[in-house]
Amino acid sequence: KQQGRNTYRLYQAEMHVQHHQQLALETALRNTVESGVGLEMHYQPLVEHDGGGLHSAEALLRWTHPEFGVVPPSEFIPLAERSGLIVPLGDWVLARVCRQLADWRRAGLSPVPVAINLAAQQFMQPGLVEGVRTQLAAHDLPGHLLGFELTESTLMERGEQALETLEGLGAISGHVAIDDFGTGYSSLSYLHELPVSILKIDRSFIQGLGETRRSGAIVAGVGGMARELGLSVVAEGVETEAQRLALARFDIDLIQGYLTGHPVDAAGFERRWLRRKTP
Ligand code: C2E
Ligand code: CA
Ligand code: CA
Ligand code: CA
Repeated sequence: KQQGRNTYRLYQAEMHVQHHQQLALETALRNTVESGVGLEMHYQPLVEHDGGGLHSAEALLRWTHPEFGVVPPSEFIPLAERSGLIVPLGDWVLARVCRQLADWRRAGLSPVPVAINLAAQQFMQPGLVEGVRTQLAAHDLPGHLLGFELTESTLMERGEQALETLEGLGAISGHVAIDDFGTGYSSLSYLHELPVSILKIDRSFIQGLGETRRSGAIVAGVGGMARELGLSVVAEGVETEAQRLALARFDIDLIQGYLTGHPVDAAGFERRWLRRKTP
């Protein structure tokens, strides 16, 4: 019994430390969002499955804190969502990506469309579409250079506002993707009524390719249905040549993963992808 109580105390102490750390991290993130210092965008290529040509990029946020070091998105994005900081953070991402696209164009490069991830709270903001238009105009950018990724659960928000926002985003760029497909509970028959054009099959289904027959069946099924609905299909998290080869059997348009390119900073992306001579 004594030991049980000690274990409990220890547990409590641990919880206390954890809670304290979370608060410290939240405060740090709040300060970071205000100053923008320590935030950086990385860009990962999406390439054509046949031929390997560059199609577009996904913008992924990175945070380095002077005290906590590199904090992974898996940690600070959920924290930002819980604290509401995801809205100003998302604004920062939108502005930063637009500025980057404008910089690349000014340098005489032809950037590919860059897709940003939109969190549910950001998506539900009434001013989102207007904000996107404002940023595009401020940087003199055509809308097709921007893309948007929304997870299944975000898209399941069926309110009128959500549909209006989605239509607004679709009208701006036509590059609206369903992210992490297969991890939620949405049905393709519902999603096909929405103005989305790209479906990204979650990494968890790609991982097992060539190993278990079931993962192949899911990719085949989703790929086939998406094709019928006129959607482009992206395989996420392709890490090995074996996975890439396995994907050739299915109707996959695009691949994204460490095999074809890690997320890299703007300078790296420019060097490796935008200035690269066509093979
Ligand atoms: P996501 O949108 O599904 O992004 C893809 C994640 O998979 C990225 O992780 C990317 O680095 C990683 N990835 C890409 N290829 C591979 C691969 O071959 N193997 C493996 N194991 N991983 C791969 P990251 O950058 O750590 O981001 C994690 C999540 O954080 C993202 O998942 C997204 O949900 C969220 N996130 C990142 N940046 C932003 C942002 O600017 N705004 C919002 N709202 N969320 C973001
Ligand atoms: Ca994404
Ligand atoms: Ca994803
Ligand atoms: Ca994912």
